[in-house]
Amino acid sequence: MINPQKIIELFQHSLSFNKAYHVQWFLTRKCNYKCKSCNVWKDQKKEEELSTEEVKIGIDILRKLGIVEIVFSGGNPLLRNDIEEILAYASKYFITTIYDNGSMALKKMDALRYADFVAISLDSLDPDKNDYIKGVPGAWKNSMEAITKLNEEGFLVGVSVTISQMNINEIVNFTKTFVERKIPVLYCLYSYDLPKKKTFSIGEKNNEFEFIEREKVAKLCDDLMRLKRENPGILITNRTLQALKDYFLFNRRTWTCKALRNFFIIDHKGRISGCHLKAPVASIFELPEVWDSPKFERLREKYSKCQDCGYLCYIFYSIHSNASGTFEIILDQKETIRLILSKLKRKLTM
Ligand code: SF4
Ligand code: SF4
Repeated sequence: MINPQKIIELFQHSLSFNKAYHVQWFLTRKCNYKCKSCNVWKDQKKEEELSTEEVKIGIDILRKLGIVEIVFSGGNPLLRNDIEEILAYASKYFITTIYDNGSMALKKMDALRYADFVAISLDSLDPDKNDYIKGVPGAWKNSMEAITKLNEEGFLVGVSVTISQMNINEIVNFTKTFVERKIPVLYCLYSYDLPKKKTFSIGEKNNEFEFIEREKVAKLCDDLMRLKRENPGILITNRTLQALKDYFLFNRRTWTCKALRNFFIIDHKGRISGCHLKAPVASIFELPEVWDSPKFERLREKYSKCQDCGYLCYIFYSIHSNASGTFEIILDQKETIRLILSKLKRKLTM
């Protein structure tokens, strides 16, 4: 939950130089959907997850490291029975975002009250197309009901859409539909994992989703920059959109990857790596000892030269990775921040 003390503390952290800022924690591999662009549901081995107590110890470690933001995803993190306890604990110290595929949010509203931001995934305004992408009948209805109800109840809820060849032509309309209702939209970009050693396999190669015309992605970046001038709630910065445009149009990477420097991931077993495509390099419990080690410095150097992926979240966290990056986000999203503050004010008076 957002409280003034937490915001002041986090703001101070976010202005520190050369500190990790963002963590994505894949709390579980359990998932009840079968998305065609994802590997997670195909690999539901009964592997051990961290216990509630272990997750809390991990949270304490992240706090000491000065982390500002944790995104809980999976699998579907709301399928964990202890998710309320985890969110209640984490939200005392961090900006916490949690992802849901739309199926669990209404069943776990008590838990979600602790999160700062709830992202519900939806990939099309067309129910049949969305359910085809998600591999589950009723997925569209679940997401729409969750988004509407959470918004009415005063939660900070956003729609998370994965842009791919399947839906690229409707992204502008999709965005308008939600931001006109004052519901923020955040974006992922279809990508798949190379067959290398990785910590958490997610993206599945699928020709239906792969972009055929790269110019279309570049044009979408222009369209979103234009839409942003009139609509708050489009949760992507112009600098990220410009980087994406250069990447798709000229195959030029205008950012340096900051994996393991400014962001890293934790998997369901508590293993740390720079991103989900890289092999684990430590356990979360070893983090205080290894964070400043020569081994981690060497890995940072190596990842800064890596060009193995174009995952949008990693591009964003590489671009906006330090104090000036935080200011850029604030300037870029000032109308969205105003929108969020007005929602919070409304929530307090409800
Ligand atoms: S994309 Fe998310 S909801 Fe879909 S199968 Fe993968 S983990 Fe589950
Ligand atoms: S570019 Fe960065 S985020 Fe992408 S695979 Fe390489 S190290 Fe990971």
